[in-house]
Amino acid sequence: MADNIVWHDHKITRAERSVNKNQKPCLLWFTGLSGSGKSTIANALDVALYKRGYHTFLLDGDNVRHGLCKDLGFSDDDREENIRRVGEVCKLFADAGLIVMSAFISPFTGDRRLVRKLFPAGEFIEVFMDTPLAICEERDPKGLYQKARSGQLKHFTGIDSPYEVPAHPEIRLDTSRHTVEECVESLIAYLLEREMIARKD
Ligand code: ADP
Repeated sequence: MADNIVWHDHKITRAERSVNKNQKPCLLWFTGLSGSGKSTIANALDVALYKRGYHTFLLDGDNVRHGLCKDLGFSDDDREENIRRVGEVCKLFADAGLIVMSAFISPFTGDRRLVRKLFPAGEFIEVFMDTPLAICEERDPKGLYQKARSGQLKHFTGIDSPYEVPAHPEIRLDTSRHTVEECVESLIAYLLEREMIARKD
């Protein structure tokens, strides 16, 4: 890093933005196999929070690969750099006072830990989509498992690239056993309990 770059403290603090928005910034980091429901649940939560008047933003794996990370592939090194960049962007959005949701496979524990470390305690909420591989493969919403099984697609998580299961996620959801609505309800309950959002009468 260049030595002559100085960090500027902003005049409006994170805490002030938070009071103004009536919410505490945080990052809900959805991790899990392709087809486990990350995008579906993150989007449904986004809608539920938006309807309640909260300020949110959702970062989706496929979308950042069109821009911010379009120079990156799927090797272990590129996956790590992809997650690092996404983590930094999530942090900026949280600094702006938003409730951020991200939907990335993020298969490696070390990479997820790196993002966690960017956030104050309690603000990084790891949401592990614990949907069995067999169900994800049966769903195959993007036809990627079929391509991976036939060898057309290399380094596919769960098939020929590992997924390291989170040891202590804040939240665990299995979308083969719970509906979208039930998953959103448990996420909202978590945010209420931790006072990231307030109960509205
Ligand atoms: P990911 O983002 O993890 O790759 P997606 O959300 O894109 O996963 O895909 C999950 C697929 O599973 C979608 O086609 C969705 O409609 C389907 N699905 C079925 N039941 C559920 C559920 N209870 N929760 C979330 N997704 C579900």
